[in-house]
Amino acid sequence: MSAKRPLVGMAYCDTAVRDNEMRMRTYCTRKYFGALQRCGADVILLPPTDESRVIGRYLDLVDGVLLPGGEDIDPRWMGEEPSSRLGGVNPLRDAYEIELTRGCRDRHVPVLGICRGLQVLVVALGGTLHQDISDITRLQHSQQAPRWATSHRVSFETDSHIREWAAGADAFTNSFHHQAAKQLPDVLKATGRTADGLIEAVESSDSGWLAVGVQWHPEETLSGDEFSRRLFTSFAAALPKR
Ligand code: MN
Repeated sequence: MSAKRPLVGMAYCDTAVRDNEMRMRTYCTRKYFGALQRCGADVILLPPTDESRVIGRYLDLVDGVLLPGGEDIDPRWMGEEPSSRLGGVNPLRDAYEIELTRGCRDRHVPVLGICRGLQVLVVALGGTLHQDISDITRLQHSQQAPRWATSHRVSFETDSHIREWAAGADAFTNSFHHQAAKQLPDVLKATGRTADGLIEAVESSDSGWLAVGVQWHPEETLSGDEFSRRLFTSFAAALPKR
């Protein structure tokens, strides 16, 4: 008999978008849940809802939540007007994922946020984002290298989960974002930064709640990168199983 695996709920939304080649796709792809399945967790998809009762049932069921990558977050959630450089937004996903994230905080359900998922953590808990980072850095955060290749270096804070998972003070990651965390809420601390000072990793500052957000895409580098495997494996292993 094998050890019981944790059950992770991935926030899902089927809203279709067009990629660079104008193919229709959704952001909530197999790469995210496949990474967790390969690294020790079972996964279910949690479709969007505007009912807090349903979100409560989701959180009764799962041992942890994965917030995947996706569209820009509507700046009205942080009291701002849209910048001319704001990308596509998905109001349905915003409202759902923000409510889901607040539920995770209230009930101490562990969260792993990837790219947009980090940004959802920040905004849902009261922080703000740079709507577009092109004016504040000369470092390339929308890499032209393939998605499976790493490009920039991220330095990690001591006493952080992410540094333990990286087994070192820094690591190379890929980068596909034009927004970034600006002001963090009290419940989050910055645990990873690029050389330009931008926040690339955040964690809960409440030791009773495991919440980790990464601005890069470890699900894309899983095959060839030990750190990416350790990230998913460590998150899955840290989940208290019911
Ligand atoms: Mn980056």
